[in-house]
Parts: sequence; structure tokens; C-alpha cells
Amino acid sequence: MIRVTLDLTCSVCHHDQFFLPLPDSDQRHVRCTRCMAVKCHTADLEKAMIALNREKRDAARVA
Ligand SMILES: [Zn+2]
Repeated sequence: MIRVTLDLTCSVCHHDQFFLPLPDSDQRHVRCTRCMAVKCHTADLEKAMIALNREKRDAARVA
């Protein structure tokens, strides 16, 4: 699981940090890091993955 801050909030506790499944996992659920409620936002998940990959790539370029 990867912990990320997303541009969306938990419907239960309004927290904005979520655990994402690893890209190679079959899971497509996003879980709130605070209350562990499952949110299923596939489109947002894809966006988050793209942002995450971009961050990693930029970090690699700097290093
Ligand atoms: Zn929550």
C-alpha cells in the first residue's frame, strides 16, 4: 500500500490521505488512512498513480 494525499476527501471523516494499492496488485480499492473506509474512485486512483509516477521520475532526475 502507498500512502498519498489525494485531491478528494473521505466521505466518512473528510480526511484527504489514502492508501493506494500497489500498481501490480489486483486490488482497486482506495482506503482512508484515518478510518480505513474503502473508497472506490478508479478515475481518481489512475490520476493519483500518474502523479505518483511523475513525482518518482522527477525525484530520479534530481538524484
Ligand atoms: Zn476516513
